[in-house]
Amino acid sequence: MKTIALVAHDGKKAALLEWIEKHQSFFADKQLIATGTTGKLISEKLQQPVRCMASGPLGGDQQIGALIAEQHIDWLIFFWDPLSSQPHDPDVKALIRLAVVWNIPVACNVATADFIVHSSLYQQDYQRSVPDFQQHNNRLQKS
Ligand code: PGA
Repeated sequence: MKTIALVAHDGKKAALLEWIEKHQSFFADKQLIATGTTGKLISEKLQQPVRCMASGPLGGDQQIGALIAEQHIDWLIFFWDPLSSQPHDPDVKALIRLAVVWNIPVACNVATADFIVHSSLYQQDYQRSVPDFQQHNNRLQKS
């Protein structure tokens, strides 16, 4: 079962909920993980359990980032708000960075999220390649 992480800043929560409502059936067979407030709103909207982390500004973004690094997340839907500054901006950046590091499909707006939902790849049991960081991990070893 695929696991989707969902996060929306306050200014984007309405957009995320509207998008989720449009694609309700897509989520029925997915495991959902979200930051605290986002997750509570999604579980109410979908009537589906959502594993809620801490609220984003209280460490939730970092908890999701850790799950990405541990290979527990298949997709990240992250509606961050480009028009307001966030107290946890370093965490926001770190979460996006880890999604890129681990080659996780990440959607930061409705259009990209639409592309993910309508992609035929997920129906074909798409296996993303997990980068091999062995060289990085061994970079300081003496030869
Ligand atoms: P929230 O956190 O879901 O608890 O509001 C989202 C965020 O701001 O990262």
